[in-house]
Amino acid sequence: MTLERRTYEPGPRPVGPLDPSSIAVLLDVDGTLIEIAPTPQEVRVPPALKHTLSRLRDRLSGALGLVSGRPLSDLDRLFDPLRLACIGGHGAESRLTPNGLVVRSRTPPLDPELKRRLIAIAGDTPGVIAEEKDYSVALHYRLAPEAERTVRERIARVCADWPEKTAEVLPGKAVFEIKPRGFNKGVAIRELMRHPPFKGRRPIFVGDDVTDESAFAVLPEFGGMGFSVGRELAGAQGFFATPREVRRWLYDLMQGRDALPQAGYLRGRGIM
Ligand SMILES: [Mg+2]
Repeated sequence: MTLERRTYEPGPRPVGPLDPSSIAVLLDVDGTLIEIAPTPQEVRVPPALKHTLSRLRDRLSGALGLVSGRPLSDLDRLFDPLRLACIGGHGAESRLTPNGLVVRSRTPPLDPELKRRLIAIAGDTPGVIAEEKDYSVALHYRLAPEAERTVRERIARVCADWPEKTAEVLPGKAVFEIKPRGFNKGVAIRELMRHPPFKGRRPIFVGDDVTDESAFAVLPEFGGMGFSVGRELAGAQGFFATPREVRRWLYDLMQGRDALPQAGYLRGRGIM
């Protein structure tokens, strides 16, 4: 990889520093804030990151939120004792303020029989791990990358036994998530942005996966901006190279260095 100047392609870079009183920061978790582990249970959130997020939340008057595919209970466990506004389960559940009520999507969870048959795929495919969530099922094949095609085909066969609009399959990084249609991260962000402390602010969202594209898509409605991590994604204005670079930017923001991540505009190159 060369790091030559001529690879620089400026994006639609806004001028001037960020104003902490007018922005909201929304963050995907796995692959964005923290590195992806072999299994979702092995992920740990470093204490330094919790400290940064806690102080940043206060600087932004609470307008800091997590937007994840994990259930809310899982997010609280991971970030304990920190409490933040959260969108969990790809938008299935939201908590608009750190200690507020949890609002659940009116879309019903997946049919238990459909869940059971999806989980059974992991049961007889070595290295594939099923993660059952309230609303959905995730099948992780990070430990058995060769199983990707088989898993994808088996998911399609199982889902074909239900009406066409019942479920949608989100392909992630070494994971397929099967969730009901009717909610996604973008729809949930739109709702979040209607309420204080987010209302009237410009959201800056960071996410690393195709499941985050629904979030990038709604940002322009609020004058916001999206950044991807590790690669370019549709709807993102730029990207960070790694979760570590995201953490560094958050640390700077927490310290009062209110600038957009410059690395985000070196499109196609993961340099800072
Ligand atoms: Mg992610």
